[in-house]
Amino acid sequence: MGGLKLKYKRVILKVTGEVLAGAQKNGIDGAMVSYFAEEIKEVKEMGCEMALVMGGGNIFRGAELSEGGTERATADYMGMLATVINSLALQDALEKIGVATRVMSAIDMRQVAEPYIRRRATRHLEKGRVVIFAGGTGNPYFTTDTTASLRAMEIGAEVILKATKVEGVYDADPMTHQGAKKYGKLTYIEVLNKELKVMDSTAISLCMDNHLPIVVFNIMEKGNIKRVVSGEEIGTVVSAGRR
Ligand code: UDP
Repeated sequence: MGGLKLKYKRVILKVTGEVLAGAQKNGIDGAMVSYFAEEIKEVKEMGCEMALVMGGGNIFRGAELSEGGTERATADYMGMLATVINSLALQDALEKIGVATRVMSAIDMRQVAEPYIRRRATRHLEKGRVVIFAGGTGNPYFTTDTTASLRAMEIGAEVILKATKVEGVYDADPMTHQGAKKYGKLTYIEVLNKELKVMDSTAISLCMDNHLPIVVFNIMEKGNIKRVVSGEEIGTVVSAGRR
């Protein structure tokens, strides 16, 4: 069972759709999904209970679609369906390497996923299955970041791990600004006041009200999920206090 001690026993990992797209901007990169599945397997084998919340931005984002003329609520439902597609891709990759998974959808879709039932989700986790939450919250005008906060609260996760393509939270976009500075620690209020791009404000407020810490870290660096769950200080931690 790994040897490394766990700082967190039950976690929610928020996976932005963009991460699954790999080097492409859209769609799903098979190699990326496999890499990701291996990273998850490693942490699972340490005895960590893991639930994933899948984004859908690599396929559809409601806000962007609605700018093109699609009614906003319809566009958002399209976005939620995109998260189901991503969830199935990840489920497939995980099961192929022997990790037991369940996809639970907030939108009823019984042929492809279980309906989301909180008590059943926690039971799956106790049994050592990786639970993949698909379909967002099931409501338009929300995001999968908010889904991660909500589900984390519901299942009693100790932390939200927000997987990104950069090292953490910066004072400017590190992809376009050379001198951008990374924060080690931030408070929820700082994130909201500075309008930092960690998660949307609904998601942050939910975490703030319920004292749920968020760790933003680089998923592209091998072994990073393991580092976070075993307590290594990487990325940026968002919590109520600076220490
Ligand atoms: N979405 C929604 N309600 C939710 C979760 C998601 O309407 O509870 C829609 C929304 O249109 C969003 C899209 O699904 O743009 C994809 O999710 P998100 O943008 O959060 O994915 P990510 O950026 O993490 O890939």
